[in-house]
Amino acid sequence: MPTPSNNRRDFLSVSVSAAVATGMAQGGFFSSAGGSEKKKLGVALVGLGSLSTNQIAPALQTSQHCRLAAVVTGTPAKEKQWADKYGISTDHIYNYERFDKIASDETVDIVYVVLPNSMHPEFTIRAARAGKHVLCEKPMANTAQECRQMIDACKQANRQLAIGYRCQFEPSHLKMMELARSNEIGTIKRIDAGVGFKIGEPAQWRLRQKLAGGGALMDVGIYALQACRYLTGEEPVSIIAQESKTDAVKFAEVDESIAWMMSFASGTTAYCTTSYNLNGLNQLTATGSDGFLRLDPAFGYTDANLENSRGKIELPKIDQFATEMDDFATCILENKPSKVSGQEGLKDLLAIEAIYKSINSRAVVEVERV
Ligand code: NDP
Repeated sequence: MPTPSNNRRDFLSVSVSAAVATGMAQGGFFSSAGGSEKKKLGVALVGLGSLSTNQIAPALQTSQHCRLAAVVTGTPAKEKQWADKYGISTDHIYNYERFDKIASDETVDIVYVVLPNSMHPEFTIRAARAGKHVLCEKPMANTAQECRQMIDACKQANRQLAIGYRCQFEPSHLKMMELARSNEIGTIKRIDAGVGFKIGEPAQWRLRQKLAGGGALMDVGIYALQACRYLTGEEPVSIIAQESKTDAVKFAEVDESIAWMMSFASGTTAYCTTSYNLNGLNQLTATGSDGFLRLDPAFGYTDANLENSRGKIELPKIDQFATEMDDFATCILENKPSKVSGQEGLKDLLAIEAIYKSINSRAVVEVERV
């Protein structure tokens, strides 16, 4: 099975020391801070690749409201590895064919889909039909139409759907959002956002259109795109984009680098770039009539650094994955919608489709409304 390059891991800064396992998940009941017994929601991880192994499973060891209850894998060797490491019994280990049997697994409340992008719709829909709430990794799907099908399936099953937009739980991003939206820098005139890294292994699924749905834009450009949306609290009205390709062999199927400009109704303009062939592209700046806010680096797992014209703004470091899962569990337990719902995923895909359309047509494209 192909694995992503070390470069990608470097970009995202794998160190999640705060999330290092402190004990194995055993049973479903844990003491809350107040001393009362409280059930943690059981999570089934679908796809045991890099993200599940290095970030999500460790985060589940420190999560307040979630625990690792089951795994779904297509690689038989991983079954024993995960069973041994996390104390999961064989009746909570599934492969993709047997996945639907998870419906009768009462230890599983949430299915977390951590598969190649093209597989997100199928497993989200199957999970919802099995009666499970779904947390699905970004990008939500390869097309907006698939996003709508996923939203409908969860709605029909009366299950919650959230997308793994971890940055929306990160203190520096939240602070930047709060300051940007509270007029701290006056009217936001422009946003500059860039995310990229030099991708390794040419055989990996990220470079296959069918599995990935696109290249750098689908994988990491989506962070820049979404940040513009959450800083302004607005949807882009129109987009113009251009692709550049310097390696037509490696990037035969997917985009290598894209630059795009988004216009918002309030007058803000966003200038974004993404690349699979450039390390160090990892910044987010909002420039307003009265100052600026900058995250540099911006989108890694642990190293977001916020500053304004007065200097660095110190904020706590958290485990973004544990916080994201805890928030989803709280939404389920309190029956309230997630701020990173399927609608958020759909809005990103509508903008992504406008970007690809603009590249192909060489024209300004209006972004379709939800
Ligand atoms: P990996 O390639 O490391 O893992 C993907 C896993 O999916 C594989 O290990 C395999 O698990 C399973 N799989 C099933 N079918 C295939 C197939 N045809 N080709 C390859 N793998 C297959 O990917 P990541 O873990 O890095 O990414 C998974 C998802 O998470 C993607 O959607 C990605 O965009 C997202 N992601 C999100 C991040 C974030 O910060 N929110 C960061 C990184 C990724 P098994 O062997 O168990 O079957």
